[in-house]
Amino acid sequence: MEKNDLIVVAGAGGFIAGALARYFHDKGFVRIRAVDKKPLSEWYQRTPGVESLSLDLSDPENCRRAVEGAAEVYNLAADMGGMGFIERHRVDCLRSVLINTHMVEAAWRAGAERYFFSSSACAYNTDLQKDPKVRALKESDAYPAMAERGYGWEKLISEMFCQEYTAERGMPTFIARFHNVYGPHGTWDGGREKAPAALCRKVIEAKDTGAKEITIWGDGMQTRSFMYIDDCTRGIDQIMHCEKLVATPINLGSSELVSINDLTTLAETIGGVKLTRRYDPTAPRGVAGRNSDNTMIHRILGWEPDTSLKDGLTKTYHWIEQQYRDRRSGKHTVS
Ligand code: NAD
Repeated sequence: MEKNDLIVVAGAGGFIAGALARYFHDKGFVRIRAVDKKPLSEWYQRTPGVESLSLDLSDPENCRRAVEGAAEVYNLAADMGGMGFIERHRVDCLRSVLINTHMVEAAWRAGAERYFFSSSACAYNTDLQKDPKVRALKESDAYPAMAERGYGWEKLISEMFCQEYTAERGMPTFIARFHNVYGPHGTWDGGREKAPAALCRKVIEAKDTGAKEITIWGDGMQTRSFMYIDDCTRGIDQIMHCEKLVATPINLGSSELVSINDLTTLAETIGGVKLTRRYDPTAPRGVAGRNSDNTMIHRILGWEPDTSLKDGLTKTYHWIEQQYRDRRSGKHTVS
């Protein structure tokens, strides 16, 4: 890549793609085009010097406009959120198939050299995730397919689109299956937030209001791994530029497995408070357990996401605390 090659980042008004646009800017790339359907005033972060366009990428004409002249296209745009969102908005999640369908076609027609798609661990067979002491998921576990309804199936079919654009039409595509990503500049309130941000916010709220309790979805025994945002952007860059990974889905996630109860304890420790736990068995809880098997990323890239949950969550907690204060004083915030 030359530093003046055009990089297009879709979904850049949101969490991960916003961080990715900043990442490439900080690496010295001078032509970055960030695209999102949200009005610019609602973007989570804007990087000075990055061209920012507000376009709905479920529309083929807008996709053509977005990728014009692109050397590399990163598609991270999707209608998505935490468990509370993807279990209740399956139609919206499925409709994200329109974004990738039109983006991959537009990128191919524009002669893009590389195309990246952000898939998810929700593409994995849910039958393998019924035990909190889950065996970590390896890349071959997506088939036979029994993905998460809605969101997971959209990811699986969009992965297939990418693979076939490589096989039949010759455009190199790259696919990462993200496992929960968290960090500063991510959604922390409003219904789309994920567990790390939600639990930090609940601890901050409890301290602020003097409440002594915290509500946890499910029984708190469900397990997950959580990847810090800086590991995610670094991983995307490495995967996109690895010839061995053309059209080959790969896990991009932490392998540090924790229960939601442990995650709550960590948020409480950072906040310096101990709260009484109330469990809500009726709330969405997702699969019982999910972890990332990092054998393949280790073998191919000689690296895996390695920011400890303690370090990453501490930074995230303090960022959300500042957001919470800013919102109270009437300033513009992410959520
Ligand atoms: P996010 O919601 O913060 O960002 C997604 C962005 O896509 C939003 O800003 C949204 O406005 C935009 N978007 C939605 N529909 C659009 C459209 N029609 N046209 C243009 N933009 C549109 O989510 P995120 O956490 O940054 O996720 C980025 C990608 O990573 C998504 O594809 C998501 O499915 C995937 N992913 C994320 C996680 C995670 O833990 N955050 C885990 C697995 C996969």
